[in-house]
Amino acid sequence: MDYSSEEMEPWISQFCSMFGHDYFVEVAPEFIEDDFNLTGLSSVIPYYKQALDVILDLEPESPLSPSDAPLVDHAAELLYGLIHARYILTKPGLHAMAEKYERNCFGSCPRYYCDGMHLIPIGRFDSPGIETVRLYCPNCNDIYLPSSSRYLNIDGAFFGTSFAGMFMKMFPEIKRQSNERTRDIFQLKLFGFRLNEMAPCGPRMKWLRQWPSNEREYKEFEMCKFGIPPLSVVDTVDADQMDEDAENSTNGGHGGSVDADKNKDADADDVDDDMNSRKTGYHTNHSTEGGMSII
Ligand SMILES: [Zn+2]
Repeated sequence: MDYSSEEMEPWISQFCSMFGHDYFVEVAPEFIEDDFNLTGLSSVIPYYKQALDVILDLEPESPLSPSDAPLVDHAAELLYGLIHARYILTKPGLHAMAEKYERNCFGSCPRYYCDGMHLIPIGRFDSPGIETVRLYCPNCNDIYLPSSSRYLNIDGAFFGTSFAGMFMKMFPEIKRQSNERTRDIFQLKLFGFRLNEMAPCGPRMKWLRQWPSNEREYKEFEMCKFGIPPLSVVDTVDADQMDEDAENSTNGGHGGSVDADKNKDADADDVDDDMNSRKTGYHTNHSTEGGMSII
């Protein structure tokens, strides 16, 4: 942060006007001055006291050493982000965010049938350093990456997991806006005819976007248990298909299970070995007779 302009503009305003920081709202200094609002943050932020002084434009009690200054600046940004996540759950914070939402500062849903529904910033985790900010669409209930890369280094924890839910509870007109929109699913057509339900390129996967429409479906939806089936045992690769390119890709796809005999048959040269080692993430040993062994 530029200390020379500190006197001219408060740190908070400076931070919020920085490039790519336009999702942030300015947290009221009174909110930060209330210790109750900062409960628990002192244990997760390094240089907590100094960082807090930076945010509130206070003179540090003891002068900072030049080597500490960048660390304190970083800590101040992290601290501000975590305070921001708490602030936007309060009434003034929600209203400040609503103003941005109205102006479409967070962008619109890319889905055609969401018809430009405004997005709400959301974090999937409340701890910093896990994932960057995502944007939630109240119409299709999905989350999206921000369209501009300038937002891809903003931590999701600076908005938090609860904000979008709280925001929609606070402003029910968002739900109304959503209800005005269609929940239609795009239907692929061929010369004007709908594709057969069972066609490989047809709408077999449309259930992913479907909503329950009657009571029975709602009940089924409630009872639904989501889970990922365990990975099945990897099929053995047909030796006939083992041309050099296919061999490289299959080895890569099988997480490094290199079959020494197959490699020997395929007469892999140095370039192929190199590619294998890059794709599999293992180093291959050329000194072994004929085949390769994984170190
Ligand atoms: Zn959407």
